[in-house]
Amino acid sequence: MLTKEEFSRYSRHLLLEPFDDHAQQQLKRATVIIFGIGGLGNQVSMALAGAGVGKLVLVDNDDVAVSNLPRQWLFGSAEVGQPKIEAAAHRLTALNPHCEVVSVPFINDEKSISEHLHTCNVLVDCTDNQTARFYINRLAYRYHTPLITAAASGFIASVVALQPWLKTGCYQCLEDAVNDTQSCIDQGIYSPVVAIAGQLQAMLTLNLLTGVAPVNWGQLSLFDGTFFTLQQFTLARDPACPVCGD
Ligand SMILES: [Zn+2]
Repeated sequence: MLTKEEFSRYSRHLLLEPFDDHAQQQLKRATVIIFGIGGLGNQVSMALAGAGVGKLVLVDNDDVAVSNLPRQWLFGSAEVGQPKIEAAAHRLTALNPHCEVVSVPFINDEKSISEHLHTCNVLVDCTDNQTARFYINRLAYRYHTPLITAAASGFIASVVALQPWLKTGCYQCLEDAVNDTQSCIDQGIYSPVVAIAGQLQAMLTLNLLTGVAPVNWGQLSLFDGTFFTLQQFTLARDPACPVCGD
């Protein structure tokens, strides 16, 4: 049951036609693991905590740098040098005390998150390197857990939702299409573009958890900030993929 305070807090969502208190309770019961609390992870964690997701597991081992501040809005100048997961947990708990925030300071370490892998509803990949992305993709496949992955570089944002064990394709076999080998360190990043990518990821996560709108598995959404266009592509699974192939 939602409390009176929760009905009031989430009232603007609850006014939406498909979004009833059952959907809100689905969020309250949900656990989401967010890998990477950089530009994407900031947006995703703020949106999910604000919307009422019950438990967020934040996985990151970076400290806040001054160059993060233009697009990582959970952090201010006073947090420079602090571990991102600690600064983020503090801000997210202040944003919504109903949201339990768990911090995990290890990346690419399955043991450190094993208890959460068995209970979480979705993995959200907000990392910016291939090693981490391939690792998270393998976790999604082995634990049969949906994966929402995104990338942002320059003026381009891309987002895709995957269920690799259901032959939707996985990150590894779609890598060429997702094409995020360039990180923002290499190419630079336009701050609103990473916010758009993170919010699209958050929306897909909320759609998945509540069912208020469909999730088109294996469909890549590509936002181009140069031309202000959003395009969709249906990706083809690679039957020879080493993770999800035949
Ligand atoms: Zn694959």
